[in-house]
Amino acid sequence: MQNNISFILLLSFINVDLNNITKMYAGHFALALLFQFYFPDVNSFLLAFGVGLLDIIFGFLAYFNLEGVSINPKAGFLGVNLHCPYSHSLVGSLIISLLWGCLGINSNSFLPLFLSSFSHFILDCISEK
Ligand SMILES: [Zn+2]
Repeated sequence: MQNNISFILLLSFINVDLNNITKMYAGHFALALLFQFYFPDVNSFLLAFGVGLLDIIFGFLAYFNLEGVSINPKAGFLGVNLHCPYSHSLVGSLIISLLWGCLGINSNSFLPLFLSSFSHFILDCISEK
């Protein structure tokens, strides 16, 4: 059963353990802090936004039924199967991260912005697969 609804709407309908989502985002934001340490001149909002960018795009694509979730209580971490072939694929993540990094070309911060976004893909691979 696949429900093409946004992740936020899903949370209101099923009993997702919010502690798991909190832990998941703690890891993403911890990396934003790490990048801020190594690249102190980069705007911290852009780094924090970057680590969540793939999920934000996932939310938009889910709204338009291009991606989504299906409820499966036995499915790992969140109790849902994620269908995100665009925002969380290797190619999609690379494209999104490259575009995000391009925001920092003029300020010489391409690498930290790219890494902030692409680290989301790497952490998701480690934690969800
Ligand atoms: Zn994600």
